[in-house]
Amino acid sequence: MKKLFFILAMVAFGAAAATAQVVQTPVMGKTGIRLYDKRVPRTEIILPQVKGYNIYKGDFHVHTIYSDGEVTPRERMREAWYDGLDVIAITDHLEIRTYEKFMLKALQPYSKDGKPFVYANAGAGNKKDKKAPMLSNLNAGYEEALSYIEKEEIPILAIRGTEIWRRPNIVGEYNALFLKDINAICHEDLFESFRRVKEQGGIIIHNHPGWRRPTMDKSEEQVRIYGEGWVDGIEVANGTTLYPKMVDRCVDEKLFISASTDVHRPSSQVWSRDCGIFRTMTFILAKECTEKAIKEALLKRRTIGYSANNLIGEEVWLKEFINEAVDCKVIAVNEKKGHRGFQLTNTCSIPFILRRGKLVYVLNPFQSLHINISRDKNTGEFYKPEFTVDNMWTVGDKHPKIHIAIDK
Ligand SMILES: [Zn+2]
Repeated sequence: MKKLFFILAMVAFGAAAATAQVVQTPVMGKTGIRLYDKRVPRTEIILPQVKGYNIYKGDFHVHTIYSDGEVTPRERMREAWYDGLDVIAITDHLEIRTYEKFMLKALQPYSKDGKPFVYANAGAGNKKDKKAPMLSNLNAGYEEALSYIEKEEIPILAIRGTEIWRRPNIVGEYNALFLKDINAICHEDLFESFRRVKEQGGIIIHNHPGWRRPTMDKSEEQVRIYGEGWVDGIEVANGTTLYPKMVDRCVDEKLFISASTDVHRPSSQVWSRDCGIFRTMTFILAKECTEKAIKEALLKRRTIGYSANNLIGEEVWLKEFINEAVDCKVIAVNEKKGHRGFQLTNTCSIPFILRRGKLVYVLNPFQSLHINISRDKNTGEFYKPEFTVDNMWTVGDKHPKIHIAIDK
């Protein structure tokens, strides 16, 4: 027995000694890469500085499960980071809360009297009772997003906003941004809601002006809404739908240009970052990425719309943008053949489609092209490196003709 005990003791000791030698491997993905959520690489969209301003990338129109979107506010914040944005506004509908009924169904057993909660969509979204009381806290989505980015230290600027919509559709849809309290602007009278946005110092964007309408001309209601001076900006792109004709209205009525995703599903389902197209966004020319500086830039109309590698805006900003983004050098002067050779280098993440007569050049991000440009046979002068930029849109539904500065 003693002998058996001794053997058992030796086996136990041996096992303990062997255990002590086991190296504790940290938990990793199979590839050996740590798969931390927060550290999924961000897409960096490199843009030039223009006239001393940085260009910040903003999406001022997204939805979450707090209205009819399909992801949470915190997921919208993570996406914004992955997608390369600097600023985002969650703009859940003031009047539509698709998932409320599902949640109330789930909560039914917890009601005090055992009866189901009543689904009470706020304001005019409720077909049955337009004066139905507002039972939701409409700031909840923004507050969830804000506390999440603070806790996770995600450097994204989140703007408090909402989307306003009333029947009939010809009234249009509008985003109100930089609000203090979304609950306080909820009112059955649309115009009263607008007044309250302005009282809070909010700004208003006319969304997708061609949405479910045969024309973009102003409806009767829109004549009033614009006439009151409530509109500050227009979406010239919503998702991949462009409204370049709206640049004219922006210029005429001194409104800023905006472009946004209006994304309802996860952004990765709509925008694949591997195909060279970023999500639709507004480029904002500002000194810093603070609420004050971004708002100031919008109101001073220093913006360019971006959608599927198209840039939409006022010519002044488009000209500055491409001139800062593209380096143009003379690399040869060939007197015999009568041309100058240029090297054009694109230093930003956006491609440029340059047209000279019948020739089209695609100047991809971070690539150089050699282009020969001849001289005017009458004057003997060399032509300038001037191109119509086919993926830029400006006033008159036109592509601007832009002279690229040489050796700047
Ligand atoms: Zn929307």
